[in-house]
Amino acid sequence: MSPPRVTLRPGREKSLRQRHPWVFSGAIASVAGTPRAGDTVTLHASGGEFLASAAWSPASNIRARVWSFDPAEVVGAALFRARVESAVRARDGLLEAQHTGCRLVHAESDGLPGFIADRYDEVLVVQLLTAGAEAWRNELIEALCDASGCSAAYERSDADVRELEGLAPRKGVMRGSPPEQLSFLEGGLRYRVDIAQGQKSGFYLDQRPNRSRVRALAGGRDVLDGFCYSGGFTCAALAGGARSVLAIDSSAAALALARENVTANRLDSARVDWRDADVFAELRRLRDAGATFDLIVLDPPKLAPTARHAEKAARAYKDANLLALKLLRPGGLLATFSCSGGVSAELFQKILAGAALDARVGATVIGRFGPSADHPVALSFPEGDYLKGLLLRRGA
Ligand code: SAH
Repeated sequence: MSPPRVTLRPGREKSLRQRHPWVFSGAIASVAGTPRAGDTVTLHASGGEFLASAAWSPASNIRARVWSFDPAEVVGAALFRARVESAVRARDGLLEAQHTGCRLVHAESDGLPGFIADRYDEVLVVQLLTAGAEAWRNELIEALCDASGCSAAYERSDADVRELEGLAPRKGVMRGSPPEQLSFLEGGLRYRVDIAQGQKSGFYLDQRPNRSRVRALAGGRDVLDGFCYSGGFTCAALAGGARSVLAIDSSAAALALARENVTANRLDSARVDWRDADVFAELRRLRDAGATFDLIVLDPPKLAPTARHAEKAARAYKDANLLALKLLRPGGLLATFSCSGGVSAELFQKILAGAALDARVGATVIGRFGPSADHPVALSFPEGDYLKGLLLRRGA
């Protein structure tokens, strides 16, 4: 039986021809049959021509997500196995003695919309975030266990985006018996991860090269780590010889883990001042107290999930960065990030320019940050380009 046919409005096939994997509800002219959530449908141009096979998601504004642009490719276990294998193989060189954590599957950019998988040592942490990924959960997880050689998997499909798909949050053991807390190595440092209660899949693996950059810059410096979570940048800075680190986060659980990470790595905890606080308020307080730093890291949570939130987010980014620039000593460095899909690299740089202007400090861009190679961005899917950052040097 052939899958239900979905026909697009005239002219709305353009993005699919450019291999963009999403179809919005407004682009759809008609649906033959009654596909259920996660069912495979075929997408057709208004003239009837085949465009793609896709997963149907009736609750979401993103009504269909493409599995294949090839009319001859059958959407089934073999396709998912091949996609998962190729994603895992692409990470072959990334897991090594110093780094034992890695994203193995990165959704759309690995040809698997809605499917995310991270590996910490021998344990997989998986997110199934769309109706399509949910429908193929068994095929995906089986292929992943086989391709990675890992037998323990934990599910963290408790992200808000699942609600938009009409899916209830889901969390717990998927395969084997993964521990709820584990540890893995990044840059030779051991990080504890709470895969059951931690944020997202437990650790921000996308920042790996940027933590290594900060480590190389931290020697002898007084560092501020804003939004420190479980201490990724704090540990990197201490390992790089930082004189002191003021680490700020508003999550007590994250700070507790961060403390453990410092001691587990035998880093000098006497050099760290932990602060359970709102970063925006704390930066103001530090400014009023006349505090200064040589290196500031700002890695806030996603302030603008989509372009719609960009304006409000821009104000928050500007606010935090303006304060940070004021807290820098002359010649000091600011490593500042945005993981908001709705804020482009270009806009982020404009926000920083505005912040420097209002702070009345000169600053130059001396480096740019992006995600680690295990978080690829398909050229046909610019939405995947969420993590950007700038390394700024404050003028004298
Ligand atoms: N830099 C971290 C990841 C940061 S994730 C790393 O390398 O692992 C963002 C963090 O910001 C989360 O830990 C969250 O608890 C914290 N957070 C969110 N809003 C905050 C606020 N207003 N003030 C302080 N921390 C905040």
